[in-house]
Amino acid sequence: MKPTPECNPLQLALCQLDRVAKKIRLDPCIHEKLRHPKTILIVSVPIKMDNGKLKVFTGYRVQHNIDRGPSKGGIRFHPEVSLDEVQALAMWMTWKCSVMGLPYGGAKGGVCCDPKKLSDRELEKITRRFTTEITPFIGPRKDIPAPDVYTNPQTMAWMMDTFSMHSAHAVPGVVTGKPLEIGGSYGRNEATAQGCVFAIEEILRYRGRELPDSTVVIQGYGNAGAYCHKIAQAEGARVIAVSDSKSGIINPDGLDYAAVSAFKKKTGSVKNFPGAKNITNRKLLELECDVLIPAALGNQITAENAPRIRAGLIAEAANGPTTGEADLILFERKIPVIPDIVANAGGVVVSCFEWAQNLMGYFWTEEEVSCRLHDIMVLACRQVWKISRKKRIDLRLAAYIVAVSRVAEAARLRGIYP
Ligand code: NAD
Repeated sequence: MKPTPECNPLQLALCQLDRVAKKIRLDPCIHEKLRHPKTILIVSVPIKMDNGKLKVFTGYRVQHNIDRGPSKGGIRFHPEVSLDEVQALAMWMTWKCSVMGLPYGGAKGGVCCDPKKLSDRELEKITRRFTTEITPFIGPRKDIPAPDVYTNPQTMAWMMDTFSMHSAHAVPGVVTGKPLEIGGSYGRNEATAQGCVFAIEEILRYRGRELPDSTVVIQGYGNAGAYCHKIAQAEGARVIAVSDSKSGIINPDGLDYAAVSAFKKKTGSVKNFPGAKNITNRKLLELECDVLIPAALGNQITAENAPRIRAGLIAEAANGPTTGEADLILFERKIPVIPDIVANAGGVVVSCFEWAQNLMGYFWTEEEVSCRLHDIMVLACRQVWKISRKKRIDLRLAAYIVAVSRVAEAARLRGIYP
């Protein structure tokens, strides 16, 4: 796929949809419907700040589509949250849920604020007032928020409590990513990385390779990156280089997860890890390895560095780490890229499990969660791989074809109301 890099996220999301629509000869009526979100909410969030002054924040919730089920997507607290960004992210959630076969449409929300400059009390007030404002539009059968950038299980606990107070009974299924004590699921913390490693194992298998003894390079050492290190190492891979925002480190004999994560916890970075050599993030991406996992930011693999990438396989734990131009170069160079909507979907898959457990009032063990996640990742990889081989296209375009076709078929079957 070749999205236009200079356009804003919404333009990018629309460009991607238009390209897939053309490829699959999508019915123009359904195409037009999918270009527009079902609901856009813009709410004011007035808060009495700790200094006694009133400040009004702006919050958004966009529900892109509900043809396959209630909408699902995270809430981010960030100073750069904008309506265009939230709309794009909501559309991408529709495709992610669809390609993974989850019974959801897509949504996203956010409050434009800088959490680093807010006290815990102010954050709680923003969360509760925002939740109150969007309460008529969310619910376990309507729209189910989850954590995203700068929101966490505590934020979800406040959202769940606020919604429950307005309902006069506990409603755990209204949000996912909750702490275990109030209906969270086992396996949620490491779900994204676990799903990513399952996807890597599956695609390696199709290529006649396996993870044990493969060399792995990981960019980013947060929730996604660090857990990828832990799980890939446990599966027998040799993780030779990792990085965070300050530096990369390399040891061709392998880096031990327990030692690196303890060092990062103590010093705040992986930089200067004993027994490893520091390298730049730029160089790290160009290392020779079997698997490269970008798990930090968007736009890391571009037309500039794609010709120098020496990985056998790229798995996008991060959202949008590869540009459209880079996609074309990597495809020509026969380096497969497991696209973000598949590679990092483990989080939303386990969110779906959490929601299902909440609706049943019956909970699964960690092993059950992991087995079911494995099955769903394997199925999605198989379907996407098959289409990419059949049509001789890259895995991203194949994933979008699967995703958009399913939503389009659901929309066709349901028809346009009234
Ligand atoms: P995080 O904040 O926990 O960690 C981000 C990591 O990236 C940190 O180690 C940070 O030091 C590093 N980093 C920042 N700038 C960097 C740079 N310039 N070069 C190298 N490293 C840099 O975030 P996360 O939750 O691990 O998310 C990482 C990516 O994965 C994001 O793109 C996110 O959208 C995506 N993702 C995460 C989840 C999840 O469940 N955590 C789910 C889906 C997608």
